[in-house]
Amino acid sequence: MSVTSGSDSRRIVVVGAGIVGLSIALRLQLEGYQITLIDQNDPMTGCSAGNAGYFSEANIFPPATPDLLRQLPKLLFSKDGPLVIKPAYLNRMIPWSMRAVNVLKPAPYAKVMSALSSLIIRSQDSINQLAGATGAAHLITRNGGLHVYRSEAAFKAKLQALPYWEKHGISVKILNGADARALEPALADNVIGGLYFPESGRCSDPKELGLHYFRYLLQNGAQFLQSAFLGVETDLNSILQVVLPGQRLSAAKVVMATGHSTDRLLQRHGFKSALVAERGYHLMMSEPGVSLSRPVVFGEAYFAATPMDKGLRFAGTAEFCRPDAPPNMQRSHMLQQLAKQYIPGLTAAPGQPWMGVRPSLPDGLPAIGKVASQPGLFYAFGHAHNGLTTSAITAQCVSSLIDGREPPIDIKPFDYNRFSHSAN
Ligand SMILES: Cc1cc2nc3c(=O)[nH]c(=O)nc-3n(C[C@H](O)[C@H](O)[C@H](O)COP(=O)(O)OP(=O)(O)OC[C@H]3O[C@@H](n4cnc5c(N)ncnc54)[C@H](O)[C@@H]3O)c2cc1C
Repeated sequence: MSVTSGSDSRRIVVVGAGIVGLSIALRLQLEGYQITLIDQNDPMTGCSAGNAGYFSEANIFPPATPDLLRQLPKLLFSKDGPLVIKPAYLNRMIPWSMRAVNVLKPAPYAKVMSALSSLIIRSQDSINQLAGATGAAHLITRNGGLHVYRSEAAFKAKLQALPYWEKHGISVKILNGADARALEPALADNVIGGLYFPESGRCSDPKELGLHYFRYLLQNGAQFLQSAFLGVETDLNSILQVVLPGQRLSAAKVVMATGHSTDRLLQRHGFKSALVAERGYHLMMSEPGVSLSRPVVFGEAYFAATPMDKGLRFAGTAEFCRPDAPPNMQRSHMLQQLAKQYIPGLTAAPGQPWMGVRPSLPDGLPAIGKVASQPGLFYAFGHAHNGLTTSAITAQCVSSLIDGREPPIDIKPFDYNRFSHSAN
């Protein structure tokens, strides 16, 4: 069956109702486009549902560290470390790691930091616009983010990053243990220091933020189709066709914001695969017995605690693994034990576990651009650890591309063709 959704040049189909797709759909609707949103699941049930809610300015670095390859054997046999690689996933991880290590050379490293910080620095204004328009401003607080350390070695190592943050205009203050406890009295006495990012912020319910966008979209004329998206084709009249099971939809333009699945969907358009699934976990505690005022990142343990409307959420870690493999919820529960080392007053009350799949590219930059071989097809995915933070500025970049305007930042570094060469 072919459904004509209008040959209207302002009819856009956005595929993916996570925070990236919803932000794009909303931005385009606010700019006067007619939106059809497609997702095979309910909105905000993918990776965007359970993140740490941290609008972080600290994450401007590529994912690899100089000793990543040396650590690989240990990571393959680790069951519950902060970073785990499943042996069955090695065929994806080897090319990803080689590309990630290549980014450690000075020139690409500097390029990635500039590109990522250009997105992050502009992210606040664009999120405020979308949250303000949809009545979700109350979900956003800007009272900073705190990264804390218990070991001198880890703290000292992190201080090496200071010149990079300064160079890219990100404010950060160095704190001793007492200063950190003055900001967050729940912290343990053995916290010896911290880094405070005064301009960072948090979302007190990331799922609800996306649902505010979704409800606003529907109230203002968008259509939602719950369906799998199979791809796009151009018909004999050169009209773009969105291919769904048993149905086709015509559209002026299509944006793919399908998270970790986008890479697979783009392969039919000649793109090389570069993305891996970096699964993360959270534990939501409704009765933590302690309170925090802002996101607190536990430096050695690689995860964060964020105060939310429904309790305290511990979220993070990295498990490189097939996206559809059964979750190991033990990784959620271990966060409670690890957090107790930093927040001794935390109760033993049970929490709600969750797992989500981060779409991660080897250089840590998202992919934002248009498909040269298929006019009218655009993509925005691969936001890894920064997808909530950079969702609205991504939407601004995509809307500029669609409209033929100059984007708010240089988007060349986000072109997915940067991976058109093989990894070695
Ligand atoms: C534990 C954890 C903590 C995190 N903390 C933070 C944080 O504090 N701050 C931050 O900025 N980021 C954080 N992130 C990262 C952030 O959550 C992600 O980058 C972001 O959610 C990615 O959004 P997305 O819209 O691209 O993907 P998703 O939310 O996964 O949405 C993709 C959507 O596409 C749909 N879809 C896929 N394929 C198809 C298809 N073929 N047909 C139809 N629909 C399809 C899916 O059903 C899904 O709804 C965290 C992630 C994790 C896992």
